[in-house]
Amino acid sequence: MRWPWSSPPPRLANAQADALLQDLLSRDATRIVDSARTVARLFDTAVLDALAPHAGRIESACAGIALGGALVSLKTHLEFALRRLNYWQARSGCLCALNPHYLFFDPRRLIDQGQMQLLCVAEAEDGWGACHHVACTQCGQRWQATDREYHYPWWEWKVA
Ligand SMILES: [Zn+2]
Repeated sequence: MRWPWSSPPPRLANAQADALLQDLLSRDATRIVDSARTVARLFDTAVLDALAPHAGRIESACAGIALGGALVSLKTHLEFALRRLNYWQARSGCLCALNPHYLFFDPRRLIDQGQMQLLCVAEAEDGWGACHHVACTQCGQRWQATDREYHYPWWEWKVA
């Protein structure tokens, strides 16, 4: 196996994709986690198009690097970022299908970004937190996103 850092990293024409890629290939845990958090929530199709073909290279470059994390393993962000890139590369479907697989999709933020349309806010079935009834603006899928908290805030997404 060739060491991933034996050749210079590719440079991408898309400036945002290039900055994210250089961080993901940096072997610097802080830069990797910051970039992975951004990629995990990335919706910009041009950036995803540029970055997705490099998922395998990113995975190799990050192998064996301790990313740390106390309450949440920071590796969670890298794993989900790679999943998102592989999902995009495979043209597997609408990005909203990934929402249940990452705990940090705040429905309020996705509504602000125009990725979700708010239908209504109700109390969660079990009485803990608010449940946002939303519809994906890309594919129309309806979701229920509920506020949760266990040491840190997270959101539970279910198909409505
Ligand atoms: Zn969708």
